Amino acid sequence: MGLYEGLDMDVAVIGAGPAGLSAALYAGRAKLSTVVIEQGAPGGQAATTHWIENYPGFPEGISGPDLMQRMEEQARKFDVEFVYAGVNSISRDSRGYFSVISDESEYTAKTVIVATGTIPRKLGVSGEDKLRGMGVSYCATCDGPFFRGKEVLVVGGGDSAIVEALFLAKFASRVTVVHRRGELRATKALQDDAFTNPRIGFYWHSVVSEILGDSKVEGIMIKDVRTGDAKLVEADGIFVAIGSRPDTKFIETMVDTDERGYILTDDRMRTRTPGLLAAGDVRAKSLRQVVTAVSDGAIAAVEAERYMSEGGRIYPKDTVSP
Ligand code: NAP
Repeated sequence: MGLYEGLDMDVAVIGAGPAGLSAALYAGRAKLSTVVIEQGAPGGQAATTHWIENYPGFPEGISGPDLMQRMEEQARKFDVEFVYAGVNSISRDSRGYFSVISDESEYTAKTVIVATGTIPRKLGVSGEDKLRGMGVSYCATCDGPFFRGKEVLVVGGGDSAIVEALFLAKFASRVTVVHRRGELRATKALQDDAFTNPRIGFYWHSVVSEILGDSKVEGIMIKDVRTGDAKLVEADGIFVAIGSRPDTKFIETMVDTDERGYILTDDRMRTRTPGLLAAGDVRAKSLRQVVTAVSDGAIAAVEAERYMSEGGRIYPKDTVSP
C-alpha cells in the first residue's frame, strides 16, 4: 500500500483495542467519518487474553480474540475505515485540524482519539532482547502452546503474571513464578487458583539477573534480593509480566501526563489539546479493564461529536485533571 490521503475525516482513532473500537463504533453510528489506525493486530492486549470472565453479558466467559473480533465487526457495520500502520506523528494546524501521519497514510481529522493502550515493560537484563521470540515472551496466550511439556518461568506478581502462569500450566510441565517480594500483588481469587495448582511453584524474593542461551533460552540466572545469592535455573522459556507502560511517544508535546506517563484527561476524555481525546489504558485512571476501556471510548466519541458541533472551541487547560 502506498501513501494516500484521506482529507477531513471527522474522527481519527489511534489504536484498535477495546477503547478504540468502542470509540469507532459510537463515532461511526453517529455518522461521523471515522478511521481507525492500528499498528498491530486488531483487538489490542485484550485479543491476547485467553479467556475473559468479567466482561458483562457473557456469563460463561468469552475468549479475548472472539470478543475483540465481535467489537471490530460491530464497528465495521457503521462504515468505519481501518488502516494497519504505526502512527509516527500527530500535529494540529491553525484551523484546529489534526494531521495524523503513519508509514502508510496521512489523514487530516477534526478530532483525534488516542487509544494506544500500553506496551509491556522489559526486564532490561542481558539476553532478553537477543532471545525474544526464542524462549523470551511477553504473551502467554500467543506463545504458551509452544511450551507443551516444557519448564517455564513467569516473572511478576500482579494479575497479569498469575493469569499467564495459570494459562501456561495447561501446557507446560512446570511453571515457576519469580517474584521480587514475598507476597503477590494479584487479586485473592487468582492467588488461590495459583497456590492450589500442582504445576505452579514460586521463587519468592527473587529477580532475574540474566537469560542464557545462544539461539534459544537454555537457563536463567535468578538472584535472591535478600542475600544477593544467584543460582542458575534450567528453563525452556521465560514469560515477562512485570506491568506495562503507556504508548504516547508520538503525542508527548500535546498532552499532559502523570509521573508514569499516562495521559491526563478530564471525565469527558479531553486532554489539554482541544479536539484531542484519550481513552482506555493509555489514560491515567484507577481501573484498567476491558469494561472501563469501552466506556472511555464511548465517552470520547460523544465528546468528539460535541466538540465539532460546537465549532471546535478552545477550552482552558485547567479543566483537565485526572
Ligand atoms: P502490575 O499490577 O503493575 O504488576 C506488576 C508486577 O510486576 C508486580 O508484582 C511488580 O512487583 C512486578 N514488577 C514490576 N517491575 C518489576 C521488575 N523490574 N522486576 C521484577 N518484578 C517487577 O501489572 P499487571 O499485572 O500487568 O496488571 C496491570 C493492570 O491490569 C492491573 O490493574 C491489573 O489489575 C489489570 N489486569 C487485570 C486482569 C484481570 O482482571 N484478570 C488481568 C491482567 C491485568 P511488586 O508487586 O513488588 O510491585
